[in-house]
Formats: sequence, structure tokens, C-alpha cells
Amino acid sequence: MAKNNENITPAPKSRFLRVKCTDCENEQVIFGSASTPVTCIVCGRALAESRGGRARILTPILEVLE
Ligand SMILES: [Zn+2]
Repeated sequence: MAKNNENITPAPKSRFLRVKCTDCENEQVIFGSASTPVTCIVCGRALAESRGGRARILTPILEVLE
């Protein structure tokens, strides 16, 4: 268990996810461990919500980017 210091080394959970908005079909890259809610930049639909510091994705994930 490493401390969460301001390290340059990315944590394994720190992934970017390419998701698709189910309302307007906009594709958007979001942070997999976002600590704040993420909304679609086009229509404002909620794409992810924060659950204890880890994002809960509310929309289909197209791709996981390292
Ligand atoms: Zn949308």
C-alpha cells in the first residue's frame, strides 16, 4: 500500500476510459478515478459519478486507455 503522495508514477487505477454517451452518442475520454462527477460535454448527461474517490461509470465503456 503506497501512500498517495504527489508522485509522478501513475497509480494502476489511474486510467482513462473512452466512453459513449447513450443520449447523444458523443464519445468522450474521462478519467477512471475521477473524484468529481463527469458529464457529457455535448448534452450534459451524467457519465460518471464519484464513489469514495473512485469513479462509477454510468455509460458504456468503449475502450480503456493506459
Ligand atoms: Zn451526451
